[in-house]
Amino acid sequence: MNLFDLSGRVAIVTGGNGGIGLGMARGLAQCGAAIMVAARDRSKNAAAIEELSGLGAEAAAVEADLTLEDACRAMVEATLERFGRLDVLVNNAGTTIRKQPEEYTLAEWQRILETNLSSAFMCSQAAYPALKAAGGGKIIMIGSMMSIFGASFTAPYAATKGGIVQMAKAMACAWGKDNIQVNSVLPGWIDTALTRAGRRDIPGLEERVVARTPAGRWGVPDDFAGIAAFLASPASDFVTGAAITVDGGYSVQG
Ligand code: NDP
Repeated sequence: MNLFDLSGRVAIVTGGNGGIGLGMARGLAQCGAAIMVAARDRSKNAAAIEELSGLGAEAAAVEADLTLEDACRAMVEATLERFGRLDVLVNNAGTTIRKQPEEYTLAEWQRILETNLSSAFMCSQAAYPALKAAGGGKIIMIGSMMSIFGASFTAPYAATKGGIVQMAKAMACAWGKDNIQVNSVLPGWIDTALTRAGRRDIPGLEERVVARTPAGRWGVPDDFAGIAAFLASPASDFVTGAAITVDGGYSVQG
């Protein structure tokens, strides 16, 4: 038995059309899973399908704003219609706005909470019956260094990323009886569209990250292929409720 074999398995990756989500989707595809990408941008979705198909995977996409409950449910329905089952949900879609706490409007706070935390809750709720019907499954949440640390420009983002780890633990407790494992991945500083502006605009950030990271570099989306394969596969069947850093050692450097 190949512990990491995902052939015949079906995975949804929210925000799977770029960045960390696409890196994870590539890892799942290389292990044999069929992939449903769920995100808003149609042309990025199409490019992701093409890339994943090029790896030999069955791939499809659903155009979805996952801050809307109906869209979360429709995403699961489209997956069942297209692939007939669901085994893995990666709750990766996310966003941020960098400001000091006193500068956020309530609408900005709510947008970050809805995109990062409520969407992961609604997608997990929508996926649960299908995962249970498949005899078990895997939910992978994406936290952050802000699940552990604080930074002055991250109040709403840090609230969501702390919350997502605790939500994963609660779901791990609730759904263990259904053979569903729920874990969180905590990325370090990764070169994606989300961090590019911060990297450019926050003085010293670029160098501080490299200096503090034992691996001596920023992460790249492909650094997430392996953890996705592990947490989606039978190799992690006794791992649940965990929060696993994938940060080149950033969080252990004193
Ligand atoms: P990207 O901006 O590259 O990816 C974000 C993804 O989320 C996009 O695919 C985007 O697609 C999707 N998305 C955003 N809003 C919505 C929405 N309302 N509905 C559906 N999809 C949505 O950033 P990253 O790859 O860096 O981020 C991915 C995850 O990793 C996020 O949860 C982020 O918080 C987390 N993370 C990133 C770190 C980093 O250093 N880069 C560090 C720690 C955590 P579209 O616009 O087409 O909808």
